[in-house]
Amino acid sequence: MSFVVAIDGPAGCGKGTVTKIIAEKTGLVNIDTGSMYRCVALEALRRNISSENVKELEKMLENLDIKLINNNGNQKVLLNGEDVSKDIRTPEVDSVVAKFAAIKAVRDKLTPMQRKIGEKTDSIMEGRDIGTVVFPNADVKIFLDCSLEERARRRYKQNQEKGISESYEEVLSSIIERHKLETEREIAPFVKAEDAILVDSTNMTIEEVVNTILQIIKEKKLKNRMD
Ligand code: C5P
Repeated sequence: MSFVVAIDGPAGCGKGTVTKIIAEKTGLVNIDTGSMYRCVALEALRRNISSENVKELEKMLENLDIKLINNNGNQKVLLNGEDVSKDIRTPEVDSVVAKFAAIKAVRDKLTPMQRKIGEKTDSIMEGRDIGTVVFPNADVKIFLDCSLEERARRRYKQNQEKGISESYEEVLSSIIERHKLETEREIAPFVKAEDAILVDSTNMTIEEVVNTILQIIKEKKLKNRMD
């Protein structure tokens, strides 16, 4: 059996950065499930398929090939063989991805893909429903939370570093809208699993969050060894 750490958290909570560092320190493979939903949104945008057109989407999903390649700790995302690592992180994709992620056909395609990876790889898997739906029996479950304003502030700063010009207000309203869609959707809503450990990163540095989670992983590994 592989060892799976599930990290669920909202956009802008620092999940990506934290997960990457923990993967480097522990040797666990970093699986960013959000990037898979982003691929679906990107492909649909490119083909001009709206999230309401489920029939066309289902057809599109049949031939959608997504591969996550780990390159010295850096994850590369291949969509039908093309490196889309940058293209999936634009404000345009940000603004539509949650609509596609709410669709059953999309989740039915991606959830088994994620399980297949986690079943054979010791991994740290990040997303919204890893601890509740994808791996309800994960060895470690973390629910990484953060206030909406702090998340918008962090995402705004990240965007600026990437040269993306969006005002703080635009980032905040996009984050609020996405949060509403994710927490209120019918399938696999973004909620804390009962047995997940809550880590609130609002007033924590990246290093503090990393160390807190590393400690939780260490304790679980020790416990596994003793059982
Ligand atoms: O984590 P990230 O913000 O990149 O995820 C992009 C989108 O994919 C989220 O807004 C969410 O709607 C969706 N998602 C999901 N379930 C996951 C991971 C991401 O619904 N496990």
